[in-house]
Amino acid sequence: MAPAAATTDEDFEVVIGLEVHAQLTTASKMFCRCSTDYSGAAPNTHVCPVCMGMPGVLPVINKRAVEYTLMTGLALNCQIPERAKFDRKNYPYPDLMKGYQISQYDMPLCRNGWVDIEVDGVKRRIRVNRVHLEEDTARLLHRADSSGEEYSLVDINRAGMPLMEIVTEPDARSPAEAVAYLQKLRQILRYLGVSDANMEEGNFRCEPNLSLRPRGSNAFGQKVELKNLNSFRAALRAMEFEVQRQAAVLRSGGRVVQETRGWREDTQETASQRSKEEAHDYRYFPEPDLPPLAITREYVEELRRRLPELPESRRERFLSEYGLSPYEAELLTESRSRADFYEAAVKAAGGGKRAKLVSNWFLSDFARHLNAAGIEASESKVRPEQLASLVVMVDEGKLNGAAAKHVLEEMFAGGRDPEEIVRERGLSVMEDEGAILEAVRKVIAENAKVVGDYKAGKPGAINALVGPVMRETRGRANARRVQELLEAELKG
Ligand code: ADP
Ligand code: ZN
Ligand code: MG
Repeated sequence: MAPAAATTDEDFEVVIGLEVHAQLTTASKMFCRCSTDYSGAAPNTHVCPVCMGMPGVLPVINKRAVEYTLMTGLALNCQIPERAKFDRKNYPYPDLMKGYQISQYDMPLCRNGWVDIEVDGVKRRIRVNRVHLEEDTARLLHRADSSGEEYSLVDINRAGMPLMEIVTEPDARSPAEAVAYLQKLRQILRYLGVSDANMEEGNFRCEPNLSLRPRGSNAFGQKVELKNLNSFRAALRAMEFEVQRQAAVLRSGGRVVQETRGWREDTQETASQRSKEEAHDYRYFPEPDLPPLAITREYVEELRRRLPELPESRRERFLSEYGLSPYEAELLTESRSRADFYEAAVKAAGGGKRAKLVSNWFLSDFARHLNAAGIEASESKVRPEQLASLVVMVDEGKLNGAAAKHVLEEMFAGGRDPEEIVRERGLSVMEDEGAILEAVRKVIAENAKVVGDYKAGKPGAINALVGPVMRETRGRANARRVQELLEAELKG
């Protein structure tokens, strides 16, 4: 390989493989009965002899964690081997209570899956090498006392939390592709309900491995592992920085050293944390305190049947079943709760062509209120049936679009039924032709100049009269009917 031949960034191909650690949303920890719900709890209050790593205790496998991992594997198109086992990964570190982590080495729960992504019209399959289960470590808090003396505190609440690791093959070819994979993975985990998958909260932690090679080369270059990424934005920035850094090293004739580099938010740079020379030999061996797992095919098929409809197929179905655009389908299936809300509203509205109308209202006015409040549809006071009623009233011509916007605003604020708001405010469309005609005549009488323009051969002038009539009727008249009555009056 001759990296020196590459003289510009375009001469290098980016290669990225991703490791993701996702905390599972089980009720109890991986190998003990401690509650996983410790957020906001005082340090070291969700602990027991097992997760504190006391000698002489025995771990017990959390069945739900195994189930969640298998469900994830199935959703990621993985094979589920008939046998799996846990192994000890040994390394000395203050956040590791036992001096080893129970993980899975050569017999993980899931293997050989894939996730399809698309970036700028380019589709790519990211192969998933494995999905395995392990336990999280404790958390260290680094402090300094008043004299500047540094010390560390340990919070064991996180120790023993069920942690799922998902490792890809080095298939992503740009930082944008890597982020697209991460976003899709997060969406799938949330649809499955197996993880909150929140990067900012640390329950979805990603470590991209990135290398460059001269375009056209088949051999991989030396990779660098990136850590400390607390958002998709940080992940993207760190990878982009790393591409530039490695390209500069290679262009100047140097070689990239294998190391772990941490993203520094303050300087927007990656900095070396640990080189390969300091890497541990983990001395893996089978965990003697846990039995190997036999995964029956019946169990796998039962789990497969229980999988919810996943984002990709739900999006496809929204396209064909509701006649939505790809963009609308994408937005409406972004989260499972949003898609559920939309479908419930469509059903209540009677389906058919109203599916499109519900989508219009959902993605415009309703979405605006949701965004402003920073909540999901399922968290709002508006129920799917209420949104449906509003759409139906507009569709049946009982309520004007403009009035409906006000009604939705009130529904959003107070959660009341649209019918009730319409009745109370007298917003329903005027059935009384006489009243509309009265308003039309009044406006004609008050706008002699516009009327003159119209009669002088400017038919467009009539538009200037519609608004005042609508105001006269407090927005309750049907605009098309107003136009017709105006024309009839002016011609007559
Ligand atoms: P290690 O033994 O250093 O942990 P692995 O083979 O387990 O390496 O791979 C860890 C991650 O790094 C995987 O996601 C893999 O796809 C990725 N990876 C491996 N080699 C490269 C490379 N040359 N460039 C980019 N990513 C790589
Ligand atoms: Zn415990
Ligand atoms: Mg590895």
